[in-house]
Amino acid sequence: MRSHYCGVLNSSLIGETVTLCGWVHRRRDHGGVIFLDMRDRDGIAQVVFDPDTEESFALADSVRSEYVIQVTGLVRARPAGTENADMATGQIEVLGKELVILNKAETPPFQLDDHQQVGEDVRLKYRYVDLRRPEMLNKLRLRSKITSAIRNFLDDNGFLDIETPILTRATPEGARDYLVPSRTHEGQFFALPQSPQLFKQLLMVAGMDRYYQIAKCFRDEDLRADRQPEFTQIDIETSFLDEEQIMAITEKMIRKLFLDIKGVDLGEFPRMPFAEAMERYGSDKPDLRIPLELVEVKELMKSVDFKVFAGPANDPKGRVTALKVPGGAELTRKQIDDYTKYVGIYGAKGLAWIKVNELAKGVEGLQSPIVKFLGDEVSLSLMEAVDAKDGDIVFFGADKAKIVTEALGALRCKLGEDLDLYTCEWAPLWVVDFPMFEEAGDGSLTPLHHPFTAPSCSPEALKSDPESALSRAYDMVLNGCELGGGSIRIHDQTMQQCVFEVLSISAEEQREKFGFLLDALKFGAPPHGGLAFGLDRLVMLMTGASSIREVIAFPKTQSAACVMTAAPGEVSAEQLRELSIRVRKPQPVE
Ligand code: ASP
Repeated sequence: MRSHYCGVLNSSLIGETVTLCGWVHRRRDHGGVIFLDMRDRDGIAQVVFDPDTEESFALADSVRSEYVIQVTGLVRARPAGTENADMATGQIEVLGKELVILNKAETPPFQLDDHQQVGEDVRLKYRYVDLRRPEMLNKLRLRSKITSAIRNFLDDNGFLDIETPILTRATPEGARDYLVPSRTHEGQFFALPQSPQLFKQLLMVAGMDRYYQIAKCFRDEDLRADRQPEFTQIDIETSFLDEEQIMAITEKMIRKLFLDIKGVDLGEFPRMPFAEAMERYGSDKPDLRIPLELVEVKELMKSVDFKVFAGPANDPKGRVTALKVPGGAELTRKQIDDYTKYVGIYGAKGLAWIKVNELAKGVEGLQSPIVKFLGDEVSLSLMEAVDAKDGDIVFFGADKAKIVTEALGALRCKLGEDLDLYTCEWAPLWVVDFPMFEEAGDGSLTPLHHPFTAPSCSPEALKSDPESALSRAYDMVLNGCELGGGSIRIHDQTMQQCVFEVLSISAEEQREKFGFLLDALKFGAPPHGGLAFGLDRLVMLMTGASSIREVIAFPKTQSAACVMTAAPGEVSAEQLRELSIRVRKPQPVE
């Protein structure tokens, strides 16, 4: 139907007849001449109709925004002075000869140029219109380029692309499962995979050696922050490689990707143990673009006569930490109040601060509601501990370690963003030496990654002191986002059972839920390990998008629904009967 895409027209085609297909982006009537900006996937071209071609002119006059048309015309140079340097096709225009309306369109729910004015729900309801915007299209185009570059890299390095089931048993990654009722097995359910974790391990037992998959994963989580109930992973597993080799090969892949697609050399990724990341940056995914660091001041606060600080300072599970912001003395009372509210989200009961006006004057030069409680000596020692300078502000957190770490870690990032403290554009790193387990709210242990991660100690050591055991896991972090994470896996049945025991999974439950894995480990499982990258997040970072929803063609809303198809939806009584399901919520009367 067409000879050229709109966006490729240029001066080299002057004098040629072309046929274009696309959408009416804009229609303008200029003193008896009609201009149509015609748009397709590749760009926009200007088509001019003059009254000489009577029939086409009348048709062109009748078209409206978003009509789908086919135009045949002659490429010619734009008259001198009317060229548009901002447009790829701005040197030429098409003198329209024939116009066919392929389909009409109602007035679109929003103007493509004005999407900022429309709420995200409207954009999501009419996503097919929203995706016509060149900005959205370009993000999806880049996403496609990224996946293809990754496939090429992995193919070239001997990885096999293998699909794993979507209807399966639970694959625990710490979220709730999406369940699918089985019709043929009454009262029983499939779970959608939270990741292909167990299948990729079984592929290693099967001798596939190197596997990858661009895999959909499903996690029913409370949609905090920027999560999607279904999302995509670049899922990788290898046999006979240790953590150094796996990190090396995947780092190479990401570096090559950034170089090929963005022309950016990320350099060699530094390594940081988990404990150091939490201590210095209050996060297991530190944003190293921000030059602020948390400084432990527990010792100094032990003997102060101020319970807010002395309490946590003398509590082995407490933490008292300072965060210096160079130049921050300029923050207003209102800004400080807002930051106090912000750390409240993380459970901090307050946010103490000292502004450094003139250090040469001693405590007289400090401005703060807490100096009088801390005393002169401690206040000045604190300034020394953080190496404060005139014009700085120092914030303090004192509470249970978990609260202080999270609150000041988050504050650090917020200040970095608000005050634009970034020192570079890209800051990648590997976080290593994670603990095997963390304490859940009820005092029990949960795996920090998943329960198939290998510990770096023996089963005996693991059993005797699980809380201090470290794992052979590694996370790749970029600009404060976890890009990917993985580990060496347990390939020994005894060790796997030992981890299950520490997690209080009874022998019976182990059999029932993971019997197939424990069996496979008995039949010649090679040492193996891998990792998975979050593709949506990777594309978001590479396109500079503000949310992962912006780089997914048809994302769900924050409440895990699709407003376009109105999913999830109710099903017929007959379907429920077939599945032997009775819904407890009363059905609306029809
Ligand atoms: N399955 C893990 C995840 O989804 C990644 C991995 O360990 O390879 O986070």
